[in-house]
Amino acid sequence: MRNLYKNIVATLICLSGIHVLIREFLCRNRVAILMYHDPEATVFAKHLNYLSRHWTVISLETLVSAMYQKDFSRIPPKSVIITIDDGHADNIALLPLFKQYHIQPTLFVCTQIIGTDRHFWFKIAEQSKSEREKLKRLPNADRLAHLKQTTDFEPEKIYPDRHALNIVEIKEMAENVDFQPHTQFHPILTHCTETECRQEIIGSKTDLERLLGIECSHFSYPNGDYTEREIEIVKAGGFRSARTTDIGWNTLETPPYQLKTVPIADDAGLTLFRAQLTTIPQRVNKWLRSLLKK
Ligand SMILES: [Zn+2]
Repeated sequence: MRNLYKNIVATLICLSGIHVLIREFLCRNRVAILMYHDPEATVFAKHLNYLSRHWTVISLETLVSAMYQKDFSRIPPKSVIITIDDGHADNIALLPLFKQYHIQPTLFVCTQIIGTDRHFWFKIAEQSKSEREKLKRLPNADRLAHLKQTTDFEPEKIYPDRHALNIVEIKEMAENVDFQPHTQFHPILTHCTETECRQEIIGSKTDLERLLGIECSHFSYPNGDYTEREIEIVKAGGFRSARTTDIGWNTLETPPYQLKTVPIADDAGLTLFRAQLTTIPQRVNKWLRSLLKK
């Protein structure tokens, strides 16, 4: 039912031509940062093919540098940035596409999960979506205690299968990917103590810089949750930008530690993808969810 509704909205957007108007007029001086998690290569290939015909894919660094220089003149009109969150194991299948389309997406990775056989807490099979959403609202220690009790999950436990990219894959991807940190274990930072929060943010920067011998300048908040406290820690930790999950495009006026995003469904068909580039379905969805909460 939800999918049917989603596809009807997407079809209406595409038939009306709004997606073309938004792209050609609104997105002349705005940059869309697309957010993926674990798309399949066949789906992602269709998205890239479409983007290559109608948009220009640029790097996150290009946008952030332009913001600091207060100069958008080198940003092509209708620019998009591709970001992929978490560091899922199947992301390795996307590497040939990065090469084929000559793009350098940013992969925000959890630095204590990549390169290990540890699991992402939010991918534990035993939990339903609503349980997961409830866990996201608990203090960090309570969330971990609950996971231990109900699923025997522990952040540092070694599992027989892996969820994340391994070291060999990361090194193989490093030339075509801009790896940046997304905390160590993906807690909800706003529910962490200040010490935990610092460790997760600064620790992930140190981890990744050590692993790849590079300097990391960009961060993304797990689940998009942040407050002034997180912004201050990210800033003081030497990052130059941070991506949220606040829906929208970026201009010269966007604060660099609150970069906006255009969330894309990992399994979006081309019609839904084109519609999601307008951000209309995501905004409607968010509005409907806020109505349901009331
Ligand atoms: Zn994430």
